[in-house]
Amino acid sequence: MAVLADPLRLVVGDKAAKRLAASLDLHTVGDLLGHYPRRYDKRGELTDLVGLRDGEYVTVQAEVASAHTRKMQNRPGSIFEAVVTDGRGRLTLTFFGHGRQDFRARELAPGTRALFSGQVSTFRGKRQLTHPDYELLGTGPSAARAAEYAAELIPVYPATSQMPSWKIADSVELALHALDVPEDPLPRELRKRYGLVGYADALRGIHRPVDLADSGRAVKRLKWDEAFALQVLLALRRRAAADYTAVPRPPVEGGLLDEFDAALPFELTIGQVKASAEIADGLAADHPMNRLLQGEVGSGKTVVAVRAMLQVVDAAGQAVLLAPTEVLAQQHYRSISSLLGPLAMAGQLGGAEHATRLTLLTGSLGAAPRRKALLEAASGSAGIVVGTHALLEDRVQFADLGLVVVDEQHRFGVEQRDALRDKAGEGRPHVLVMTATPIPRTVAMTVFGDLDMSTLTELPAGRPPIATHVVPVAERPHYLSRTWERITEEVAAGRQAYVVCPRIGDDAEARGPASDDAVGYPSSEEEDGVPARPPLAVLDLAARLAENELAGLRLGILHGRLPPEEKDAVMLAFTDGDIDVLITTTVVEVGVDVPNATVMVIMDAERFGVSQLHQLRGRVGRGGHGGLCLLVTEAPEVSQARERLNAVASTNDGFVLSRIDLTQRREGDVLGTAQAGRKSSLKLLRLLDDEDLIGQAREEAVALVAADPALASEPGVAAAVQSLADHERASFLEKG
Ligand code: ADP
Ligand code: MG
Repeated sequence: MAVLADPLRLVVGDKAAKRLAASLDLHTVGDLLGHYPRRYDKRGELTDLVGLRDGEYVTVQAEVASAHTRKMQNRPGSIFEAVVTDGRGRLTLTFFGHGRQDFRARELAPGTRALFSGQVSTFRGKRQLTHPDYELLGTGPSAARAAEYAAELIPVYPATSQMPSWKIADSVELALHALDVPEDPLPRELRKRYGLVGYADALRGIHRPVDLADSGRAVKRLKWDEAFALQVLLALRRRAAADYTAVPRPPVEGGLLDEFDAALPFELTIGQVKASAEIADGLAADHPMNRLLQGEVGSGKTVVAVRAMLQVVDAAGQAVLLAPTEVLAQQHYRSISSLLGPLAMAGQLGGAEHATRLTLLTGSLGAAPRRKALLEAASGSAGIVVGTHALLEDRVQFADLGLVVVDEQHRFGVEQRDALRDKAGEGRPHVLVMTATPIPRTVAMTVFGDLDMSTLTELPAGRPPIATHVVPVAERPHYLSRTWERITEEVAAGRQAYVVCPRIGDDAEARGPASDDAVGYPSSEEEDGVPARPPLAVLDLAARLAENELAGLRLGILHGRLPPEEKDAVMLAFTDGDIDVLITTTVVEVGVDVPNATVMVIMDAERFGVSQLHQLRGRVGRGGHGGLCLLVTEAPEVSQARERLNAVASTNDGFVLSRIDLTQRREGDVLGTAQAGRKSSLKLLRLLDDEDLIGQAREEAVALVAADPALASEPGVAAAVQSLADHERASFLEKG
C-alpha cells in the first residue's frame, strides 16, 4: 500500500516514474493523483477535430477514413499516411518507416476507431499529426481495458509525447489501487453540511468516473479541498499575526501629519479619508496591522500611504516603503520628497522644525551614498526609507521600524514581507500592502486572504476621464499616421507622451525579458487575432520614429535592461519635461506618475492583458489635462483580441476590467506573479465561478481555526494545510 507522499516509482515502476517526472514534473503518488483529466471522452464519440490548433498536444478519438503507403523518394523506407475524421473535420496522420509498414496498414485500416495522440502541425495546408501514438478502440488490449474499467468515459489527461494520455491513465489506475486512503482533508461535519463525497470517492470519481454526474461530485468535493486548505492556512496566518505584539503608533496632535494635512494642495477623497481612518486605527493598536489597500489606478494610494508613514514617524517610529522596481522606488522617492517638502528636510536649510528625513536605498547606489543611507536607517535619523529589494538584505538595520509599506504587492511574496518584519526590534512592525490594480473580491480573499482590506473606488474629483480608442491598423492604416500627428500636437501644446511596445528588441532578448518588463499577454499566441509576426520592439520603433514620424521631438528610451543609473536618468528627464516622448516597455506599467503626460500609445495592444492595459493607461491624465489612450492593433475587426481591446476602451472601471481579465486568463496567470505556490495548488477552483464556495470555505475555516487552532481534532486538515504551506514555501524558494 502507498501513501500520497510516496515516490511514484514504488507504485508505477521505474520506467513510468522517470517519464512522469521528466515530462510532467510528477514525482509522488499525490502529484499523480492531483494530475486531473482535462476532459472526458465518451467511448465511441468522436472528438471535434475542427478546433485543433497548431502546436497543441492533443488526444483525439477518431475514425480512419482512408489510408495508403508510398515509397520515400530518395531514400529507402516508406511513408504511411492515414486520414482520420470525426465526420466533419479531417486530420492527416503521417508515419515514416524503414520498411513497408504493413502492420500499420493492418492496424489502421479504414473504419478503425482509435485514440490518437500527438502534436498538431500544418503541412501544405493540411492539419496533421506526425508519428502520433495511438491506441485502438474496440479490439485487442483496449477491449480488455474497456471491460476492466467498464467505463463509458475515457479520461483525457494533459499529456506529452513521452506520456500519452492513456499511459497516464494506466499509471493513475495503479496508484488508485495501491493507495492507502489517507485521513479525509475535510472535516466530517463540513462534508455533511455541503453534501460532499469522501476523499477516496472523489479521487476515483475524478479519474474513473462512471458518468459525468460522478465526476461532477468529485470535482465539487476536490474544489472544496483546495479552497478549504488555503483558507485554513490563511486563517492560521491571521491568527499568528494577531498573537504578535506591536508598538502602538497612535496619531500625535500637532505632529508632522497635521502639518502635512494642512499643507496638502487638494482635498482627500471620501475613500481616502475612510481608508486613512482604518489604517490610523490599525497603527494605534498593540498588535500588528496587516492591511491591504487596493484601489483604482490613479485613486491616490500614495497619499494614503504617506499619511500612514507620517503617523508612525510622529510616534517616534520609522517607516519603509518597498517598491518592486528601481524606477518606481526612484519615483516614489522624488514624489514623496515633493509632497513632504520642508517636512522631510531635517537638518537642511529650509527644513521644518520637527522635520524628518527621507532616505533612498536601492541596489544601484554607489558605495558612499549607500553607507550614508544605511547609517541613516540604523541611527533612526531617516524617518522614512524608500527602496527596493536592497532593503531586505541582512545588513540593513533600523533603529525602530514601525511600519512597512509594500507597494504593488503583486511582485512580493509572503516571505519577503517576513524578511522586513524581522527587522523590527520590539514586537512586529505594522504592514500596509498596496495593489497596483483593483482585484475581484475572491481574488483578494485568496491571494491576500491573510490581510484586512481597505478599498479606494473613486478617483479624485475633477479629473477628466481618459478617452480610449482602438486604432485598427488593418482596416484603417491612415489612423496610425494620425496617431503620430496627435502626439506631435500634444507635444506642441507642452504635453508629453508614452509609446509602449511589447518587446525591447536587443540581442539579449532571446534570453527572456528583463525582470522589470512584465511579460506580454500570456495566451496571446493561442488567441485569434494576434498577428503572426514578432511583436514590435522599443529599439526598432524608436529608431524609426526618430527618423520619420516624430523627427525633431525629444525621444527617450526606457526598458528593463538599461543600467539602473540610466533608467533613473531617463525617468528623471521625462519627469522634468526634458523628454517629449518616452518609448518604453511595460516598465512604466506600475505606478509611474508624470502628471504632464497626456497621451499613451500602446503598440500591438492585443499582446497585453486587460488589467495591464488599464494600468498602462492610468499613467496619463493624472494632472487634470485629460488623457488619451490609443490602442494600436493589427487584429482583425472580428476577433477575440479586438473584443478585449473594445472592452478596455468601453469602460474606465478597473473592477469591471479585472473581472474580464480573470475570465480570460487562466487562474494561474492571475495568481502566478503573486504567489507561485498558490498558483499550482489551485487546479480546479475558479476564482470567479466559485465565489460562493470560496466564501463558505472561508467561514468554515475561520470557525475551525477559532475552535481548534492546533487542528488537533482534524489530522486530515492539518496534513493538507501543512502540505500546502510546504508547497508554497518550496515554490517561493524556487522562484528565488
Ligand atoms: P495610485 O493609486 O494609482 O498609486 P497615485 O497615488 O499615484 O495613484 O495618485 C495619482 C495622482 O493623484 C497623484 O499625482 C496624486 O498626487 C494625485 N492625488 C491623490 N489624491 C488626490 C486628491 N484627493 N485630489 C487630487 N489629486 C490627488
Ligand atoms: Mg501607485
